[in-house]
Formats: sequence, structure tokens, C-alpha cells
Amino acid sequence: MRILITGAAGFLGSHLCDRFLAEGHTVIGLDNFITGNPDNIAHLTGHDRFSFVRHNISNYTYVAGALDGILHFASPASPIDYLEHPIATLKVGSLGTHNALGLAKAKGARFFLASTSEVYGDPLVHPQTESYWGNVNPIGPRGVYDEAKRFAEAMTMAYHRSHGVDTRIIRIFNTYGPRMRPNDGRVVSNFIVQALKGEPLTMYGDGQQTRSFCFVEDEVDGIYRLFMHGDSQPTNIGNPNEFTVRQLAEIVLEITGSKSQIVSRPLPEDDPKVRQPDITRARRMLGWEPRIDLREGVRRTVEYFRGVVR
Ligand code: UDP
Repeated sequence: MRILITGAAGFLGSHLCDRFLAEGHTVIGLDNFITGNPDNIAHLTGHDRFSFVRHNISNYTYVAGALDGILHFASPASPIDYLEHPIATLKVGSLGTHNALGLAKAKGARFFLASTSEVYGDPLVHPQTESYWGNVNPIGPRGVYDEAKRFAEAMTMAYHRSHGVDTRIIRIFNTYGPRMRPNDGRVVSNFIVQALKGEPLTMYGDGQQTRSFCFVEDEVDGIYRLFMHGDSQPTNIGNPNEFTVRQLAEIVLEITGSKSQIVSRPLPEDDPKVRQPDITRARRMLGWEPRIDLREGVRRTVEYFRGVVR
């Protein structure tokens, strides 16, 4: 297949380039480097089935030749990035999704939307099933991401229903692993970088809020299977093992052997209190199951960060 990946230089996008190339496909990567990093795809330079275009998908996009699939992964994706790039975040979820869908329609390509557990907001249903409609503050600091992705889901279903585009919607839960930015601001990268530097681990609030962390290799496998064998309904892909933020801090200290303290910092506005995917749908439809537990995933991620943190 000839595949276009937006956000190709990002954390997930770059791992997707690797996976699609490994499966024998041809990949065109697209990124404007707002939060993506050229280092993430530097190893693909000169690959005969990979090409790269520096472009913002929120602007009109032309791609020459046939396309069989478009995976729309471009977006700032960390709470600190939404604060720094609120309008770009809204634009890439809305205008970017519209452009990518228009391209998919023109090429007769399958369209795959990277949506998010953030569509559930601060959830009142736990764990979250795909049938839950969510509890989102539209005007809070996270609203720029949550509402953009909710709009993106609506637009994707509209193209599916009105134009017959073959579409997929994945709701991605917290994912971590090599190629996260050290200053990404998210909890796994923050804690590992802080532990390796011997700085205090910044636990927001009392650390009793929960997340369910999926190692990138498992997430990418879920994405690939959903792209190949899924249907048009939204599908949660994440690891259902739930941890408090405090537990995560303790695991990071244990694995790095760091002597860092855990310090409390104010809880950001609208920080979801709990998050855990119900993955029944993915299990049944795709035979997908995460395999790498948190300790093993953190070990592999620590190895990566030892190489980039100084
Ligand atoms: N968090 C934390 N310390 C940090 C960064 C994040 O305690 O240095 C908390 C944050 O308040 C949230 C959880 O960890 O409850 C996950 O935050 P992240 O930014 O990774 O992603 P989110 O799931 O909130 O989108």
C-alpha cells in the first residue's frame, strides 16, 4: 500500500512509519515540526520506500500519485503543548482533519483518525467504553484538544456516511516509550527525566488520580490491526492496567535506582481523576491485547532516555 502519515516526525507517527515500512508498504511522511522532531525519522533518510514532506496539514494539501491509506496523527498532544499552541491544536483537529479527509476521498484511500481518550473528558463512567459520550469542559485549557478531536470524529463519520469513505477512528489512551520528547511535559517522560537527573519528581495534586499506560509497541500494533481489519466505529486502544500517578512515580524510582524525592505540585485545571480503557471491542474485533507491562515498558523507556538526557 502507499500510505500518507501526518505527524510522521512525532512520537507515534515515527513509530508508525517504521511499522508500515517493516510490513512492506510505501510511506510518505508529513510534518511541520511544531512538536515533531526530525531526529525521530532521521534513520529513514535514504530508505527507498520512504519520503518526507515538510507541510502543515491544516493548509491545503496536494499529494501526487495514488494513495491507499491516510493516517492522520498530526497534533500537539500534551497538555503543555495545548497551552502553547491552542489555535494550532484546534486547527489541525478541524481544518487538518477536513483536508486529510478530502484527500482520502479524492484518492479513494482509507482514512484513519488518531482520536483520544480525551473525548471522554473527566469521565463519569469507569472504565470508559466507546459508547460513553464523555464529560468535557469546552472552554477549559484542554478544550482545544478535546473539542478538536470530537469535531474530528464527527467529520470523519460525516465523510463515511455522506461520501462512503472507508474510515477508522481510534481512541488512544496514555501511551509512552522511546522518542517521547524529554520536555514533552507528560507524566512518564517527566518522571523518568527527573529521576535520571536526580531532580525531584513533580507529582501533581495528591497523586491519587489514575491513568492506564500503554507501551508504544503495543499501541502501534493495535493501530496497525485496526487500520487493516477494523470497522468505522470508534475503538479504544490502550492498556487497561490502571495505576495512580504516585504508583508510577514509585515504579520509576525503583527502575532507575534514583534517590530523587517525590514532591507535590498543584493539580492542573480539568485534570481527569481517572482513566482506564474498556478494550472489549478491540479484543473481539482485532484479537489485540497489550503484552508489555508497565515495569518492562518503563525499563525500555529509561534505556532510551539515558541516551538523550544529559
Ligand atoms: N502529572 C504529574 N506530574 C507531571 C506530569 C503529569 O503528576 O510531571 C500527572 C497529571 O496531572 C495527570 C497525569 O500525571 O494526572 C497524566 O498526565 P499527562 O500530562 O501525562 O497526560 P494526561 O493523561 O493528563 O493527558
